[in-house]
Amino acid sequence: MTEVERLDYDVVVIGAGGAGLRAVIEARQRGLSVAVVCKSLFGKAHTVMAEGGCAASMGNVNSNDNWQVHYRDTMRGGKFLNNWRMAELHAKEAPDRVWELETYGALFDRTPDGRISQRNFGGHTYPRLAHVGDRTGLELIRTMQQKIVSLQQEDKEQYGDYEAKIKVFAECTVTELLTEGGRIAGAFAYWRETGRFILFQAPAVVLATGGIGKSFKVTSNSWEYTGDGHALALRAGATLINMEFVQFHPTGMVWPPSVKGILVTEGVRGDGGVLKNSEGKRFMFEYVPDVFKGQYAESEDEADRWYTDQESNRRTPDLLPRDEVARAINSEVKAGRGSPHGGVYLDIASRLTAEEITKRLPSMYHQFKELADVDITAEPMEVGPTCHYVMGGIEVDPDTASSRVPGLFAAGECSGGMHGSNRLGGNSLSDLLVFGRRAGLGAASYVESLEKRPQVSQSDVDAAARGALSPFDPPEQGVQENPYTLHSELQQTMNDLVGIIRKAGEIEQALVKLDELKSRIGNLVVEGHRQFNPGWHLAIDLRNMLLVSECVARAALMRTESRGGHTRDDHPMMDSHWRKKLLVCSTSADGVEVKPEDQQPMRPELLELFEFGELEKYYTEDELAGHPGRTA
Ligand code: FAD
Repeated sequence: MTEVERLDYDVVVIGAGGAGLRAVIEARQRGLSVAVVCKSLFGKAHTVMAEGGCAASMGNVNSNDNWQVHYRDTMRGGKFLNNWRMAELHAKEAPDRVWELETYGALFDRTPDGRISQRNFGGHTYPRLAHVGDRTGLELIRTMQQKIVSLQQEDKEQYGDYEAKIKVFAECTVTELLTEGGRIAGAFAYWRETGRFILFQAPAVVLATGGIGKSFKVTSNSWEYTGDGHALALRAGATLINMEFVQFHPTGMVWPPSVKGILVTEGVRGDGGVLKNSEGKRFMFEYVPDVFKGQYAESEDEADRWYTDQESNRRTPDLLPRDEVARAINSEVKAGRGSPHGGVYLDIASRLTAEEITKRLPSMYHQFKELADVDITAEPMEVGPTCHYVMGGIEVDPDTASSRVPGLFAAGECSGGMHGSNRLGGNSLSDLLVFGRRAGLGAASYVESLEKRPQVSQSDVDAAARGALSPFDPPEQGVQENPYTLHSELQQTMNDLVGIIRKAGEIEQALVKLDELKSRIGNLVVEGHRQFNPGWHLAIDLRNMLLVSECVARAALMRTESRGGHTRDDHPMMDSHWRKKLLVCSTSADGVEVKPEDQQPMRPELLELFEFGELEKYYTEDELAGHPGRTA
């Protein structure tokens, strides 16, 4: 029997980004004991890297903004595939969540009259992103950590122990969720440093593990984004939705190769930066799709006037939703009008003074200076699409964040539904505050309602330990495989065959390759021992990446239309019949299964927030039968 440290908690939160920390605060405020487990250092998560800001319709810069406008923008951005209830809760609750952060000690940038400043971002009708320069995520995490410390100080006073109610387990990776009778009973993990195992016995788990970007070669994501939460949920019996929708952010660095994919914030365009091709042309005017016709400026003059007068001008098409801009860049490069390193130009130097650029975009200035030797106050940046965010994720109840598995909750990027087929920039930080809180509440209510806690069985613990250790004990026959080789083949496959533009034949090739990789994973061998062994860690992560990549590829093959972050070259149009469908992924002994299921129809008063003429572009005729704007 393997040696395993055992600990009891009411709630285990897996992930210490914004969603996880907000869930911790809520569950602790309900009096529960909470373990927060994170794969990397506490405070190092994607949330900390978020640059542009947090979307909330506070109306501080333009008083016309309100939750209904934010709701409409979010649904449009997601091409009406969003879970409308999540989008409603998000739009209504985001302002309170931002104000609440200030009560925890956050300090956002201010308007001249002292209110929280808000900036423009793609797809948002009004300036809406509360921000701290281009380091907003850092302030979010700093503040929530500070709140957690203050709760721990209260616990010290009351119980004599700082960690009586909240304990952080940093550099600790969860590899399996354990259940009894289909209900959550615990989570199995290992310490990265020692390789020793730890078992959290708890009736509720909140997954807040972020994204899946490390399955793709060019990505803005850092090493820990291997789809662990998605895979843990699937293996525990939960479902994933919308996995075909992967966001390729239009502006990642393209040069030098060592930094390819690193994000260039949309804040650059929000603050006046424009995209140009090798001929110096602002090409985005050519790429306004039919569904957005009339909503965006049609000349450079109008687009430029919009930055200072939004009442009488339409916004620049440089700020179309990300899927549109990424496809436009892809087309320009394909047409031979790209920059020398296969991107296009993003020019802020000719639009703001050097002083304004370094004040508003300090991280971008340093990023380009240090990594690419480019001075963005004097010359344009070279940028191109990079895999950035997954709209797909764990299927949850919008109000409680519970999955289909009793005791399992999910929030933030690893959950699905909120953003539909494409997320608007800034809507992730607000999503994780709104639904992180709801997941903490949901988990607390669930735990309080239990009469008896499910128990972890010894056989499940032994199986989890065996699974984790298997790369040290490969089969004697067959070729021995190296995790780094498999990872690089997986990344290349996903990038080339299930990337920004997809075709049935290529996705089928990807599925064949994924099958091959699955069969090779049993032959993985890692050198050395369990103490800080990155090869072993990658071998464990690979199992998750392969499972999640298969969901992405199978769903991408099934959805025969183009919508948001899913572009099918062989089905280039949006199809209203597909808007009603969610592709639901589950696993069984036979592998991944993907089934179409009908979306819940939107509540009539929400549907009526949209003009009939706009809805017609997305909905089938029978879905709109009762809309008051219908004339015939
Ligand atoms: P994360 O913040 O990603 O945290 C995930 C946590 O889970 C980490 O602590 C990780 O260690 C842990 N974890 C993962 N797997 C395991 C495991 N197996 N065991 C234990 N722990 C695990 N969004 C915006 O709204 N505005 C922006 O301006 C913006 N800018 C961005 C800039 C960059 C460079 C990037 C990469 C993203 C940006 N985003 C932005 C997106 C946004 O930051 C993320 O979607 C969001 O922060 C995700 O938050 P989260 O809480 O869901 O997860």
